Amino acid sequence: MEYESLAEFQERAGYTIDGVWYPRVTSIVSIKAKPALYRYYGGMRSFKAADDAKEASAREGTMVHEAVEAILRGTHEAVPSVIEPSVDAFREFLRNNHVEPLMIEERVVSRTHRYAGTIDALARINGVVGVLDIKTSKAVYRDYTMQTAAYLSALTEIPNVERPTTSWVLRLDQCRTCQLCGVSLRTKGGMFRVSAGGKGCTHQWGPMEGRFEFSELGAHPHDLQAFLAAKTLWEWEHRDWLSQLI
Ligand SMILES: [Zn+2]
Repeated sequence: MEYESLAEFQERAGYTIDGVWYPRVTSIVSIKAKPALYRYYGGMRSFKAADDAKEASAREGTMVHEAVEAILRGTHEAVPSVIEPSVDAFREFLRNNHVEPLMIEERVVSRTHRYAGTIDALARINGVVGVLDIKTSKAVYRDYTMQTAAYLSALTEIPNVERPTTSWVLRLDQCRTCQLCGVSLRTKGGMFRVSAGGKGCTHQWGPMEGRFEFSELGAHPHDLQAFLAAKTLWEWEHRDWLSQLI
């Protein structure tokens, strides 16, 4: 990721809190290579088409996050129709689990390790307190543990907050299923992607349906170690910008 100016670097790669600049968790974890992303780019007709779809997909992801946040806060806001099935899946998740939000969309800072991030939620779910991260990706990736480990560690620095003992990813997705062969069609970011299988089938797509996948990522010291190692690498990569901040 390239930055044009120090101001842009500060704005996009971090947060200024009480006059101190901290790199953001999502920027730090982005330093790690993501093989799935190469396969995604490689499977598209052009780099630009892949980039455009990735951006559209990110916008949909933001809409889902906003809708989920509104539901957790108990405010009623209109949900854009394009993401309605995913939001329905979130409501189904809430019906199936006992979810008590303790923090929603809040900035957390580690002054010990010098980074900041925004958690989707800290919640008590079925009696257990943990960090809940919402994803709209097509799978739950192991890399997410670095992000949630960073949030868990930052939360321990806040006084008077219930100590989380685990972290989860709730993946919200929507797709259509072929009535004949059972493969699924995702249309995220305006792209059409059919899951593997169903060779030779003419496909009869059913309605767009939301689904959720709730995965426990836990709270393992090695995940925080990996995050801090990524931070060291991130700092090395951005050393020229960082030297201007001091
Ligand atoms: Zn089919």
